Amino acid sequence: MPVPHTPPPIADEVTLARYPFLPQASEWIRGMALRHSINLDELLDGSWMDKARQRARLRLIDTVQSKEGVQVSGGDIHTEEGRIVEAFSFYYARLVVCASEDERLVARWAQAEAARAEQLLMLDAVNLPLVANTYVTELRLKESVAVPTMAASPSTPLRQRRQGTSDLWQIGLSDFIEICPKITGQRWRLPNADVEGGWVTLHNERQYASSAKLARLLRERIKAAVEADALEKMAEINTDLAVRLAEPVGMVRNLMASKASEAISLVGADETDWPPCMQKIVAELATGVNVNHFGRLFLASMASTLALPEESCVNFFRGAPDFSEGTTTYQVQHVYQHGYTPSGCGKLKINHNCPVLPGDNRTCDQSWMDHPLKYIRATQRWKRLTRPKAEPAPEANNSEKVNNTSDIVGDANK
Ligand code: SF4
Repeated sequence: MPVPHTPPPIADEVTLARYPFLPQASEWIRGMALRHSINLDELLDGSWMDKARQRARLRLIDTVQSKEGVQVSGGDIHTEEGRIVEAFSFYYARLVVCASEDERLVARWAQAEAARAEQLLMLDAVNLPLVANTYVTELRLKESVAVPTMAASPSTPLRQRRQGTSDLWQIGLSDFIEICPKITGQRWRLPNADVEGGWVTLHNERQYASSAKLARLLRERIKAAVEADALEKMAEINTDLAVRLAEPVGMVRNLMASKASEAISLVGADETDWPPCMQKIVAELATGVNVNHFGRLFLASMASTLALPEESCVNFFRGAPDFSEGTTTYQVQHVYQHGYTPSGCGKLKINHNCPVLPGDNRTCDQSWMDHPLKYIRATQRWKRLTRPKAEPAPEANNSEKVNNTSDIVGDANK
């Protein structure tokens, strides 16, 4: 990832508290811990860190439940106490996420923190270049048309700074090429970009300013950095720490589980027949993981093949970090209208959408298993054979659904 080796120095404490994930913030937080005698015991159990732990809890709840990511406003970071709460709540939340040993949660948390940063940076004209130069190698301001501004310093509250900048940013082509595949939308495709001399101009649009586009690009880099950092720190969690963090870890795990089952239950009882690849994608989308394009297309084509209602299929995508009702509905309609055939196991494995390893799942281990639809047929047949004789026949609607599914699955076996 071409990020600058040496990030620009940031001394302003308000800025560091606002963006505690910045690499420049580590030294500052360490200094603050020394100054206020905040050690690990204090952070985990001390009364002095109560507020930080409460704010961390909110950060984690937002991580799972809010589409917008972690709430922008915490305490008043213009006071020393507010800065301590903000900085250490970030640290505590990261500890909890690392102790969960759940990479999906780590990804979800990184996404939520990055989404918060994007919202802040869209309005933070003073710090946008500093943060951008931390994560992007080539960046320049092509032009900046004067707009009425208030005198602003890095510590001026965001709301008092200028709103609606007419800055015009350009980003290096290599950064653009690396970041954009992770963002959906036509404006982020290279053929639609204004490229000249190795620079991509992020044009101001009526409702999408150049600065907001830069903040969107930064979100991807921030997410990658926060996630990589947390995954590295996961190795440092020992048993003692894991036990002491068991309560908040349990709280987040339960939230994640209920979110996933909420999404799965949207389409009725037959989800127990779904193959692990489909269940995984549904659960990941529900918890805000940015599932790749291949996985999304697979899910939509499975939903279409299984004759699930289009609306249920759209609902699968609601938790996606880039969910847009209009775009998703349009894309789902397209898949349903064109009757795409779901991809087979080989392609799903190559595209990192098959979660099972040999020994994980007996059905997937079978030598004939080469398509997720075969998985469904095998599961349904096994259920029919093992259903107690006395059990009443399924109701009309359900039996129709099962028969339809079997027909379709039968086609896949031909
Ligand atoms: S082996 Fe095939 S059916 Fe099973 S999880 Fe992987 S892709 Fe899905």
